[in-house]
Amino acid sequence: MHAEMNVLRFAQPGDVLEVMRFKKYDDKLSMAKPCSWCMAEIKAAGIKKIKYTNWHGNWETMCVEAAL
Ligand SMILES: [Zn+2]
Repeated sequence: MHAEMNVLRFAQPGDVLEVMRFKKYDDKLSMAKPCSWCMAEIKAAGIKKIKYTNWHGNWETMCVEAAL
């Protein structure tokens, strides 16, 4: 189970999901964009917006409807 799917058990429709990933070797933030499998689950849970860290460790915001 991916982390996103686990947290969806506690999510309410309309929540904003935030996903961050830390690299194993230096604790810097890395790409945490949910995979297509998680995206389907996220959409089904009623989440409209996701924030995730990109390769540079910066936050990006994605609209769930537009991403599918
Ligand atoms: Zn996933």
